[in-house]
Amino acid sequence: MVDANAVKERTAKKGAGRPRASSNVASHKHCKICSINIDVKSDPRICKSADCIAKNEKNQKNDKMMRIMFFVFFAAVVAPIFLSLLGYGGG
Ligand SMILES: [Zn+2]
Repeated sequence: MVDANAVKERTAKKGAGRPRASSNVASHKHCKICSINIDVKSDPRICKSADCIAKNEKNQKNDKMMRIMFFVFFAAVVAPIFLSLLGYGGG
């Protein structure tokens, strides 16, 4: 007869041997502007410095702008090329 508890124990031991890298390393964060240590729960990921808050806001605006520029670029450059490849370019 197979002892169910013994089997369970053996499988549990097999799983426990695996190192859990992700849970232990991420105990702190760094400010993405000045890289000092900040609280893990900080959101956005910046410290409380006014300079960093201002820079973060600026970055977010730049990020938004980059996304808009990407769509404009895509519409103006990539889409016509893509359409011509498909045979819609009047060729
Ligand atoms: Zn900072």
